Amino acid sequence: MLEGQVIREGQLEARSPFELRVAPGTALPESDVRTALATGDMGFLHSFTTGATVDGPGVRVVAWTSGCMWRCRYCHNPDTWSMSNGIPISIEKATEELRKYRYGLKLMAGGFTLSGGEPLMQHRFAAKLFAAAHGMGIHTALDTNGYYGDRLSDAELDTIDLVLLDLKTWDPERHKALTGMDNAPTLAFARSLAAKEKPIWVRYVLVPQLTDDPEDIKKTAAFAASLGTVARVDVLPFHQMGRFKWQKLGLDYTLEDAQPPTVESVEQTCQLFRDAGLEAY
Ligand code: SF4
Repeated sequence: MLEGQVIREGQLEARSPFELRVAPGTALPESDVRTALATGDMGFLHSFTTGATVDGPGVRVVAWTSGCMWRCRYCHNPDTWSMSNGIPISIEKATEELRKYRYGLKLMAGGFTLSGGEPLMQHRFAAKLFAAAHGMGIHTALDTNGYYGDRLSDAELDTIDLVLLDLKTWDPERHKALTGMDNAPTLAFARSLAAKEKPIWVRYVLVPQLTDDPEDIKKTAAFAASLGTVARVDVLPFHQMGRFKWQKLGLDYTLEDAQPPTVESVEQTCQLFRDAGLEAY
């Protein structure tokens, strides 16, 4: 998003993808939420930003969905966990918003990224929005933890040009301790993407003492390399920019004293991915 830019769409307003929203935009009846989720005619967005350059190739428009079923200890957006913390937006409005940017995005070799939260919590909405973007000739990317990947049909996957897949840690026990969830569905989704020759960018958050075990990283790297469709790996250094959100939301933050990884440690991690034959940054 461009510095200082504010986007408003109905009640949708955001100044930054890291903006804190602790109060729901609208108290929607539970039945309306259920209908919206089932049809995909309405989605719940935390914010809609432009100008992002780290969420896929080129300059991106990014829609940040609300709702996530994981509870990563290092999550810097815990304010997106709850679906009700998002603002309802119709598929028509969201499509209209994208339409404004379609020529600019093509000129800048950019595209549209759906991120979160976890976008596949709202897989019907996600599928409709990707179909609309794809129909306008916009490059599309899904940023996901992959857990609900099997909710998308082959035809729906065809409208997604790139998957930004978060691989948290290889070891299943460690994964559960880190995220509260099993990593098997994510790995299965990665394999199914590879079978369809879908380009993947792996995202790996490096947290000292949590995800920096070299043996664990080597196994993750070997798995990623075995897929054959991983175009790049982004090693993302842990940071403390989300700490205030945990505090504000009254959540138990276990990484209060955790430090970001050193530059050397980020480089060593990149090297482990490169040793497996992958491009890593
Ligand atoms: S998957 Fe992403 S949004 Fe969900 S808890 Fe983990 S880091 Fe946060």
